[in-house]
Amino acid sequence: MYFHSVTLDRDRCKGCTNCIKRCPTEAIRVRDGKAKIIKEKCIDCGECVRVCPYHAKVVVTDDIGMMENYKYRIALPAPSLYGQFKDMTIGDILASLQSCGFDEVFEVAYAADIVSYITRNIVKAKDYKRPIISSACPAIVRLIQQRFPSLMDNILDIMPPVEVAGKIARDEAKKKTGLKDEEIGVFFVSPCAAKVTSVKNPIGIEKSYIDGVFSMRDVYSMILDKRKFAEKKIEHTSSMIGVGWANAGGESYGTSLENCLFVDGIQNVIGVLEDIELGKLDDIDFFEGLACVGGCVGGPLTVANNFIARNRIMKLKEKLNKDVSVKKYIAVDFHEFMLNVKLKKSDVLNLDEDIDKAIDMMKSIDEIYKSLPGLDCGSCGSPGCRALAEDVVKGFASEYDCIFKLKDRIKILAEEINKLSIKIPPVIGSDKEVKP
Ligand code: SF4
Ligand code: SF4
Repeated sequence: MYFHSVTLDRDRCKGCTNCIKRCPTEAIRVRDGKAKIIKEKCIDCGECVRVCPYHAKVVVTDDIGMMENYKYRIALPAPSLYGQFKDMTIGDILASLQSCGFDEVFEVAYAADIVSYITRNIVKAKDYKRPIISSACPAIVRLIQQRFPSLMDNILDIMPPVEVAGKIARDEAKKKTGLKDEEIGVFFVSPCAAKVTSVKNPIGIEKSYIDGVFSMRDVYSMILDKRKFAEKKIEHTSSMIGVGWANAGGESYGTSLENCLFVDGIQNVIGVLEDIELGKLDDIDFFEGLACVGGCVGGPLTVANNFIARNRIMKLKEKLNKDVSVKKYIAVDFHEFMLNVKLKKSDVLNLDEDIDKAIDMMKSIDEIYKSLPGLDCGSCGSPGCRALAEDVVKGFASEYDCIFKLKDRIKILAEEINKLSIKIPPVIGSDKEVKP
């Protein structure tokens, strides 16, 4: 079964409808005073987690205690972790993280250096459709599978840094310790819900190299607790390119391509994907779209304000090497880090498998939509009038969930009642004079 990291806490939900309009895939409805996530449509972007004033949307991550199930434990910190702390160097952060019960830390930022290196080389060797679209943000890849399937061939077929890190760290640990695969636990410290989901339901690979995903928020407080006990700094291996992936634009910089476009915030990304679909951006070589504002530093599981974290990353980068050697991990054709399962279009927007039935349903949706006020107010509990029309045809809602239609209906009924009341037989309570 498909795992979703974004879930609803029904007790906290007040049915305020704040979330339904912000969901980029129209995956939320409010019915009977509570939100409901349509699982098939949700891409775990985390937008509803950010906007819910009652904190009723919750990101499910793995329990830290699961580390106990493994003999050798490796932490994979996302580059955005480095922007969370005031006055801590990358070396301090890595040492404190390791003291939280890990045998080793392997930087996802270093894996980002590897992905940047592969990208630089592969775009010269292969004839990619332009613009090449980054595969790093899983929320954006899922969005494309659902809303922009014609752009799936533009997606860069390299594994995201987190999986590259998981693969290398696991292989090295097996060689070093002689332990079996199942005795080594690899744990990612994630800034976002989308990456939790992508580890549980990998995109473009058969199986993830990661065993568990911890929330950056949980790990943040553990690091602060351990800070003073960490024995020594760990020498970090990543360069300013790899660390730069924490911020929007970091991946684009690493490609060395001249004509890159990076856009953050899922609604902004949707606008650009629409333009790409219309063929308006064929002159762009590389498009980096990130669901979160600011990039991964703005993920819903981070702690620091995303502007502050972004600034810290910029400052940390100033002290790092411009680039780093990654060749020891890479085969000539890069095959071990390429996606090897073809991406599939999501069929969640299909109305029915039977094409005739789907056409009839579409006609009914159009008719109902025309009869609705077109205000997209959301007070019916669906994100807009078209979504309500679709819900009615699918049998999930009634036309009279629309407050305006309900008002009109009540008015008509009231007029009918009034007419009927005049027709009441005189024998019932009338004191009209009876003529002989
Ligand atoms: S996580 Fe994103 S796609 Fe899923 S329900 Fe929330 S806003 Fe919609
Ligand atoms: S931008 Fe980064 S943090 Fe946000 S959803 Fe995408 S991968 Fe996750």
